[in-house]
Amino acid sequence: MAEPHRRTVRDLRRSNRSTVLTKLYFEGPLSRQELGPLTGLSSGSISNVAGELIADGIVEDAGSVESDGGRPRTLLRVAPGSGHLVGVDVGETRIRVELFDLALTELARADLPLPPDGHDVERVVRLIGEGLQQVLLGGAVRPVPVTGLLGIGVGVPGIVDSGSVVHGQTIGWDAVPLGSLLRESGQLPADIPLFIDNGAKTLGRAEMWFGAGRGARNAVVTLIGSGVGACVIADGVPYQGASSSAGEWGHTVLQVVGGRGCRCGSRGCLEAYVGAEAVLQRWRERGGSWTAADEEGALAELLADPAAGPLLDETAEYLGAGIADLVNLFNPERIVVGGWAGLLLGPRLLDRVRDAAASYALRHPFAGTSLVLGRLGPDAVTVGAATLPLARFLEAGGAVRSGTEAGGRGAEPGSSVPERRGGAAQGLPSARGDRLRPSGAGTPG
Ligand SMILES: [Zn+2]
Repeated sequence: MAEPHRRTVRDLRRSNRSTVLTKLYFEGPLSRQELGPLTGLSSGSISNVAGELIADGIVEDAGSVESDGGRPRTLLRVAPGSGHLVGVDVGETRIRVELFDLALTELARADLPLPPDGHDVERVVRLIGEGLQQVLLGGAVRPVPVTGLLGIGVGVPGIVDSGSVVHGQTIGWDAVPLGSLLRESGQLPADIPLFIDNGAKTLGRAEMWFGAGRGARNAVVTLIGSGVGACVIADGVPYQGASSSAGEWGHTVLQVVGGRGCRCGSRGCLEAYVGAEAVLQRWRERGGSWTAADEEGALAELLADPAAGPLLDETAEYLGAGIADLVNLFNPERIVVGGWAGLLLGPRLLDRVRDAAASYALRHPFAGTSLVLGRLGPDAVTVGAATLPLARFLEAGGAVRSGTEAGGRGAEPGSSVPERRGGAAQGLPSARGDRLRPSGAGTPG
C-alpha cells in the first residue's frame, strides 16, 4: 500500500520540477520570488525544487537584481551547458545533423549529401550514424560527454506512425521501421532517447516555440521545400489525426481535371504546383533554364529572371488557393510560410499570395488570419527535431536519463508549455537569431 503513495509523492516532485524548469527555460532568468506567482507553487516548494535543480547542475545562478525591500534577489536560469541535444533533418537532397546545447545554440553540424533518388533506407541509416559520429566527436565541445546527451530527434519526409515507423510515399518508404533500424545499426549511443517525427511537424514545433508562431494557439506552419507539408496547431497542440498523418497539405487537390502528376502518385496535388521541384519543372516546360546544380540555386536563378514573372504570378495564385483552404478548414489566427523554398519565394510573393488567399477564402475567418514568413531560417527542421528530446527533458523535470523508451514522439509543445502563450523565451530567441542564415535544402512533409 505504501507504493502508490510513494509514487504519488514522486510524481508531485517531478511535476514541480517540470513546472519550475519549464518556466525558467522559456521565461528565465527569474528570481525565486518571481517563480512563486508564475508557477502557483509555495515559496517553500520553489526553494526546495530550485535547490535540487541547482544541485543537479541543471539550473545556475544568473546574477542578481535589486528588489523593493533593498535585498538583492538572485536570478536563476537553465544552465545551457548542462545538457546536449541532437537534431537530424532527413531532407530531399541531404541529411543534416546538428548538435545543440540546452539553449539550442548550435555547437556542431554535419551535412551529408544524398544522391538523386537517394533515400535508400540502408544509406540513410548509415549517413545518420556518420553524421552523429561527426558532431559528437568533432564539435566545438569535443567530445561531448555522452552522459550529457539528452536525446536525438529526427525529422523525416514522411508520415511517422507509432513513434518510429515511417511511411514516406514520395521517397519510396513503405512502413520503414527507422527507429529500430537506427538502434540496430549500433551507431547510436546505447540507451539514448530517440524521437522521430515528420519534418514539417518538427519545423512547426520550432516556429511555434521560438519563431513566427510564438504566442499563437491556433496556427498552421507550412513547409515549402522540394515538396510541401504543414503542421496544424489546434489549441496549442499539433493536430495528429488517427495515425499522425494530419497536415499533409501538399497532397490536397488543387486541380481535378488535367492535374499535374504528383510524387505521391496522385494528380493535381498542391505540391505538384508550388513545391520547388514542381516550380522548376513548370519553368523548364516554358523554356526556362538554370545553371545551378541544386534546386536552391536553380530557384534563386528563376527568381532573378524577369521572364519568370508570369510563372511566379501563377505560383502565388496556387499558393493563395492552398492557403485559403487552410483558413476555411482550420480557422487559424496565423499561417507561417516556412521551408527553404517558402523563405526564398516568400519575400517576393507574399503580398500576391495574401491577395489570392483573400479572394478564395471565406471573408470572416480570413480577416482574423495573419500570413507571415518563418523566422528561423531553413534550418528550422533540425532545431525542431532537437525540441523533441528537449520537450521530454522539460516534462521529466530534468531527469530523463533513465526509464525513457526509445522511439517515442516526445511531449507536445502545448502540453509542456501551455502557459508560454505570448511569453518570450528570454535569451533563447536571440540565441536562435544568431544562427539565422540561408543554407541547405529543407524537408518536405
Ligand atoms: Zn501528391
